[in-house]
Amino acid sequence: MKTLLLKIAFLFRINILIFALLSLTIVAILAYRQGMDSIYTINPATYPYIVALTDSVDGGNSVINMIRTDSSIIMDYELREGYAYPYASIQIYLGDGKTHGKDLSAYDSVFLWIKPRGEGSVRLYLRGWDSTISKIDNQASLKFNELEFFPLEETYPAVFVPSEFRVAGWWVSQNNVSAHKARVDISNIPLIEIQTGTGAPLGYGTLEIMGIRFKGKIISQLSLTTGLVAIWFITFFIILIIRFFDYSKERAANRKKREELEKNLKALEIEKADFEKSSKEDPLTGCLNRAGFSSILTREQERLNKNGSPLSYIILDIDRFKDVNDTFGHSVGDEVLVNLSKLVQSRIRNTDALVRWGGEEFVVLCSDTPLQNAQFLAEKLRQNIENTELISQQKVTCSFGVAEMIPGEDSKKLFERADKALYASKQGGRNRVTSASYKKH
Ligand code: GH3
Ligand code: MG
Ligand code: MG
Repeated sequence: MKTLLLKIAFLFRINILIFALLSLTIVAILAYRQGMDSIYTINPATYPYIVALTDSVDGGNSVINMIRTDSSIIMDYELREGYAYPYASIQIYLGDGKTHGKDLSAYDSVFLWIKPRGEGSVRLYLRGWDSTISKIDNQASLKFNELEFFPLEETYPAVFVPSEFRVAGWWVSQNNVSAHKARVDISNIPLIEIQTGTGAPLGYGTLEIMGIRFKGKIISQLSLTTGLVAIWFITFFIILIIRFFDYSKERAANRKKREELEKNLKALEIEKADFEKSSKEDPLTGCLNRAGFSSILTREQERLNKNGSPLSYIILDIDRFKDVNDTFGHSVGDEVLVNLSKLVQSRIRNTDALVRWGGEEFVVLCSDTPLQNAQFLAEKLRQNIENTELISQQKVTCSFGVAEMIPGEDSKKLFERADKALYASKQGGRNRVTSASYKKH
């Protein structure tokens, strides 16, 4: 009953665990979809590291005027003839602006709040530091991750994904960049540039830049999935270990129980054997009692009927035992009984059986013994008893009746005949052996 409850509790525990795991997974997915955003915003109105420049750095004649308002930066420029590709731009420095910029690779979208005040496209450059190509004293060697677009009112703010960027082809050719290095890489961006577009018309133009925002997730979808799978896996692994230990414990407990049962069974068997033995034994003398005798008798009768091996009874009864009790007391009488049985036991064969028939009357069942031999044994016993002090300085005698079983004879009949012979011994003056006549049918 207790183990059943434990089992149910254990199952319940597992269910709680799986439920908790499911909840965690759902919450994690929802939280990921709704939030866990990582955002990096540059507000040009307040961001300090912004400079404006034109192709004048390349020998051109264009001019620019950068105005900071409360909410934006306005680029007022005039593109003039001079340089082959006239341009005006603003530069936003990140990090140290040279070799250690900002890692933007974790973001999956770029928001641009740019309002055009003229026509033409705009170029957005995420300038990357690549230690194998870029040189610290040459800004032109920063990789040109480029995106060109028309800032339209209806797509305000303009939203891009990193895969829309391209590395400017002229930069690749100017710097002899190998194919695998010519890919977009925004993991280290010290400089962002917003520039007038390719082939922008000469003359005045205005661009208002309100903000740039990079948006991504705190962790990638792959990390989230991997993490959740790992948690599920670890949990099941732990359950497996718990199960294993529970199973081992259960097995050990079962083994212990079995051993205890076996021990108990053994003790019971020993007790049973003792009980069986004592139930067939006379408690005073240790001889067989009638119950013990009957099982031996059955065996001997079978032998007689099968093989014709002879079987005899000797009945002996202590002479005037009442007098012993009366003279010396009952306990001395008991001592006589014990010593007598010991004496008789020591004089008969192992195959013979001594039985205390009742009171001071004993029966010796002589296996494989014809009348004559039994008679001889009885005589020997009689003499031994007569010549032994069964208690100090006190002799006792016994009278004997002997009979051999006639094949097919009932054991009661045999006893009666032996008893009759005993009676004859008593009648004849005691301390003597009388045999019942034996006539084969
Ligand atoms: P007999 O020669 O005719 O056999 O005379 P007896 O006195 O032996 O015969 P009786 O049958 O009159 O007496 C038997 C006595 O044995 C009576 C009883 O007190 C005694 N007796 C029987 N069982 C026990 C026993 O277990 N212990 C003792 N001490 N005495 C016993
Ligand atoms: Mg007697
Ligand atoms: Mg008697």
